[in-house]
Amino acid sequence: MDNIHICCPKCKWEPDGKPYWQCTCGTVWDTFSTGARCPSCGIVWKDTQCIIEAGGCNKSSPHLDWYEGLEDIIKKLKEEIEQGWKVEVAELVR
Ligand SMILES: [Zn+2]
Ligand SMILES: [Zn+2]
Repeated sequence: MDNIHICCPKCKWEPDGKPYWQCTCGTVWDTFSTGARCPSCGIVWKDTQCIIEAGGCNKSSPHLDWYEGLEDIIKKLKEEIEQGWKVEVAELVR
């Protein structure tokens, strides 16, 4: 995963691996460690907010827009994340 670069598409702030994101269920975690899925309740957050307390711009961007890097690697990663999302949607429908 060395060729993948994660940063805010609007201001280029880079997440530092700390748990800045809070789910409506109360869980606080690093959204990039789970592909935007809450590790507790399983909800997928398709928009990711930039963290103003850590030097970001506070704006929300689509989660997948945060990933930069070699085109084919990023494409594969995004497909994996989206596949995970589809599984989740199917479970919610059931
Ligand atoms: Zn949650
Ligand atoms: Zn930003």
